[in-house]
Amino acid sequence: MSDVFSAEKRKPADKQGWGSLANSPKWHYFVEGRSLCGKWLGLGITNFDDDPLTDDSPDNCAGCKKKVPKLRTTEAMTKREAVKE
Ligand SMILES: [Zn+2]
Repeated sequence: MSDVFSAEKRKPADKQGWGSLANSPKWHYFVEGRSLCGKWLGLGITNFDDDPLTDDSPDNCAGCKKKVPKLRTTEAMTKREAVKE
């Protein structure tokens, strides 16, 4: 009976957050393997930092930084929708 729920939990969006790359001095925010600024692929990254407290770090890429608040808002809305159903 729990099978229905486990499939839902394992969506690719779970692997997202701030990640550092060897060839970039800045941290980028990755969603499904791509940075929000669109310039980087984070396929080799295994550890993502998805703590909202680090969103304002000076080490973060400016392009990603701008898009993260929107992403978090969308996510919160999506979760609320899911609960409603
Ligand atoms: Zn970036």
